[in-house]
Amino acid sequence: MKLLDGKIAIITGAASPRGLGKATAHLFAEHGATVAILDLDADHAAAAAADLGAGHIGLACDVTNKDDCIAAATAVVAALGRIDILVNNAGITQPLKLMDIAPENYEAVTDVSLRGTLYMSQACIPTLRAQKSGSIVNMSSVSAQRGGGIFGGPHYSAAKAGVLGLTKAMARELAPDGIRSNAICPGFIATDITAGKLTPEMKAQVLDGIPMGRAGEASDVAGCALFLASELSAYVTGSEIDVNGGSLIH
Ligand code: NAD
Repeated sequence: MKLLDGKIAIITGAASPRGLGKATAHLFAEHGATVAILDLDADHAAAAAADLGAGHIGLACDVTNKDDCIAAATAVVAALGRIDILVNNAGITQPLKLMDIAPENYEAVTDVSLRGTLYMSQACIPTLRAQKSGSIVNMSSVSAQRGGGIFGGPHYSAAKAGVLGLTKAMARELAPDGIRSNAICPGFIATDITAGKLTPEMKAQVLDGIPMGRAGEASDVAGCALFLASELSAYVTGSEIDVNGGSLIH
């Protein structure tokens, strides 16, 4: 059964080849959606869209820049006619201790996850409101719930906790317009976000704390995003769904 037939989906930060956004884009495309991949570099975004097959588009968009977000949402509507799904997936992390977080670290990390989620949502909401339907899926993290401990520093935990609050506030405000807003809290998923920066000792320690005994796959997160994007979750809004192999059971 195809769950997203005829739907138009925007996914931010989806050009990273082994990333959660790209895996989500693939699954959405398999389920009949047409996907707009947004990322920092136009060529990378276009190449990622081409990987999905014909009809998908890739656009340059720095989600920390409000004008970029508005231009991208406008371009998607011009090219594809509507927006049904927005996945706010772009994010960066830094393994810093509390006292080592400099102003530029704080700004870099919170800007992409938190400001970016706000700006990209603001860019799409007028279209979703006019359609009286839409699903917004925000990528938070287990880090938000347990205060870090995997890789990101306290500023990353704070940014991702902010994403949870924003998700819930958007769910309340947008529900009367038929727009749902939910968050995914992935645990440790092997992607390029930690590539080369995670020592074997750190990895062993993380795996030790996962009852299912393995790192997550990008496809594990994509499956959850598909549920939240589709009508399977028609009565689900303001929720946070854990995809963490049991590493945080609460
Ligand atoms: P990734 O590094 O593979 O991909 C992130 C993508 O975001 C990259 O393509 C990058 O170019 C893009 N990006 C960065 N800044 C941007 C900006 N300003 N505007 C637009 N795009 C930008 O990372 P990933 O592991 O696929 O992570 C995806 C999301 O999931 C992130 O929000 C991350 O914080 C979150 N997450 C990941 C994990 C994990 O273990 N991998 C766990 C929890 C949460």
